[in-house]
Amino acid sequence: MGINIYPIHLGFDCCYLIQDKGIIVIDGGTPGKIKAFLKGIGKLSIRPEQIKLIVITHGHWDHISSVKDIKEKTGAKIAIHETEKEWLEKGLKSMPPGVNLWGRFLSKAMTMCLPLIKVPAAPVDIVIGNEGFSLAEYGISGRVIYTLGHSSGSVSVLLDTGDAFVGDMAMNEFPLTLRPGLPVFAEDFDKLQESWLMLLNQGVKTVYPSHGKPFPASIIRGLLS
Ligand SMILES: [Zn+2]
Ligand SMILES: [Zn+2]
Repeated sequence: MGINIYPIHLGFDCCYLIQDKGIIVIDGGTPGKIKAFLKGIGKLSIRPEQIKLIVITHGHWDHISSVKDIKEKTGAKIAIHETEKEWLEKGLKSMPPGVNLWGRFLSKAMTMCLPLIKVPAAPVDIVIGNEGFSLAEYGISGRVIYTLGHSSGSVSVLLDTGDAFVGDMAMNEFPLTLRPGLPVFAEDFDKLQESWLMLLNQGVKTVYPSHGKPFPASIIRGLLS
């Protein structure tokens, strides 16, 4: 059996379920999406307790707000980079600046909406350091790699197949972007591009953004060169 990759839409973005010898989930969506999550895994005939790990690509509200409920239903461990551990444990909200005119507009508009959003705090089980970690013990042929830039605690999951789950290091969905490419928000756009070069050099073939459909890594390579 090869590796199966399933997107599950959790509101404004999607999480990805990866099924190899084990099953993990990447990201935890917007608030109140536990029913959508359970329905999504139900369609795949996966029971909640089969999921052993939730890797959070970064601590922005749209990636962590249903993770408390997902953890409670599945019993899975939560892994997040050390820089953003507190964001999840305290339910903090951060919004990065735009990197272009449209990004700046959207960032301002979203910042105004932030007070309306409640992020349920959740306990973190695995604190990811800058060295990342192998997913072998979870039955997944791949690893978690530190890829700062969109936020200072952003990580990506790179499978041995070349499939990369990059959170918001790339975007491919209206109204964020009209075409696949780099994100419209980033704390540090230079670092983001450095992280991309490092990641591409490790053999990324297909990019799976949290917002939008997967696309070939050659598109990102073209944008960086
Ligand atoms: Zn983000
Ligand atoms: Zn996002």
